[in-house]
Amino acid sequence: MVRVRFAPSPTGYLHLGNARTALFNYLFAKHNNGILVLRIEDTDAERSKKEYETAIMEDLKWFGVKWDEGPDTGGENGPYRQTERLGLYRQAAEKLLQEGKVYRCYCTREETEERNRRAGKNESAGYDNFCRDLSPQDLGRYEREGRKPVLRFRVPGKKVEVNDLVRGQVVFEPGSIPDFVIMKSDGLPTFHFAVVIDDCMMKITHVIRGEDHLSNTPKHIMLFEAMGFDIPGFAHMSMTLGRDKTRLSKRHGATSVRAYRDEGYLPEAFFNYIALLGWGTAESQDIFSPEELVREFSIERCNKSNAVFDPEKLLWMNGLYMRKTTPARILNLSLPYLKEAGIAGDGETEEKMHYLEKAVSLEQEKIKLLKDVPYHIGFFVKEPVYEEKAVSKYLTEKGKEVLGAILTSFEGCEEWSIHDLEARVRDFCEAKGYKAGEVFHPLRVALSGKTTGPGLFEMIEHLGRDKTLERLKKWSA
Ligand code: GLU
Repeated sequence: MVRVRFAPSPTGYLHLGNARTALFNYLFAKHNNGILVLRIEDTDAERSKKEYETAIMEDLKWFGVKWDEGPDTGGENGPYRQTERLGLYRQAAEKLLQEGKVYRCYCTREETEERNRRAGKNESAGYDNFCRDLSPQDLGRYEREGRKPVLRFRVPGKKVEVNDLVRGQVVFEPGSIPDFVIMKSDGLPTFHFAVVIDDCMMKITHVIRGEDHLSNTPKHIMLFEAMGFDIPGFAHMSMTLGRDKTRLSKRHGATSVRAYRDEGYLPEAFFNYIALLGWGTAESQDIFSPEELVREFSIERCNKSNAVFDPEKLLWMNGLYMRKTTPARILNLSLPYLKEAGIAGDGETEEKMHYLEKAVSLEQEKIKLLKDVPYHIGFFVKEPVYEEKAVSKYLTEKGKEVLGAILTSFEGCEEWSIHDLEARVRDFCEAKGYKAGEVFHPLRVALSGKTTGPGLFEMIEHLGRDKTLERLKKWSA
């Protein structure tokens, strides 16, 4: 049974690169009818925050990554927060200490740096294995001095091979890794130790994570071996870069899932786009349903080269999914934005909701983001926001005269149907020798404040008699 995990540290909002790692774990688990575990790596007490843990879980759920075991769902292999597993790490460390596979190290950083300097090495060259074989006398002396030891792993002097499922074989030569700490002097495990204990106890079969962890993997393999655990498969995913090919960071704009969610992306568009960051089919297909992604996903198709995050492509894809979904759903999802813009309030009548839904359906082709819905449909409800350029170009003296005549004609319109409205405007153009544009543009701008929007007569019909006549009065000479 395939068991994978996503293991975020709750030190910030979910980053796009981590969202990709989470999604690939999810797709791999589902493809293999396996289990996805969510594990919260919160041992960094200073930087970990409960609110980030909650936000990460919300954002994962938002775009469709669901886990089978985790801090909220529970499961047989919990607890799923590292701070709740401290006893397990201590027990495992104690066993390794008894077996002589780890040793107590009393050195301060300054002492190690000083020794490195004296040995002609760079002071930050790493640990020199000084405490590896301390005599009982030295050990006793350090204890009496009240020093608090860390536990260091005795790195075996042999090469370590990582058979990475994406990168192939990566060899780490003997001597390239100094003895490393597994338990800190405050009794907390290091990242390396906690990860290995958890991956083993949670029966993880495949570790799928970012390439930035590849250099940690030999340490993890050595620990798995020292404890007699089965070594899981490893798959290190390429990094996600901005369009300038540097590591994706704040400089590239929004980098958290939360920011995209707030902008009004649709979860299914986000799910689809993120899946393409470092994975693809031979046919370079772009649009996939979640079911297709689960069916098609494989680690073999993950790219070794870095993925480039292209916000324009994401926006394009969002527009496409926006056109695929229903106006009712767009309306529902955009309610927070409509409320903020004063276009809809709490507990609107069914009639108003239908009116707004129809307005959305008229504009649906043009909506790219939920947050733009108020811009597109606001004028159906509130006084339009008149765009200056449009006003100065079309609501001229001549434009206003045209609108005056149209007003008179519309006042006589009883049926208020697209058909009737259009016939009146076209008759007017013909009678007065106007080109359609000379009339259509001022009409649209006077009613909506903008030069673009839905079909003119559908728009007027939906706007309704009262608002139309009122706005025409305002703008007619
Ligand atoms: N907590 C680690 C991180 O956020 C992930 C560790 C792992 O996947 O092994 O980078």
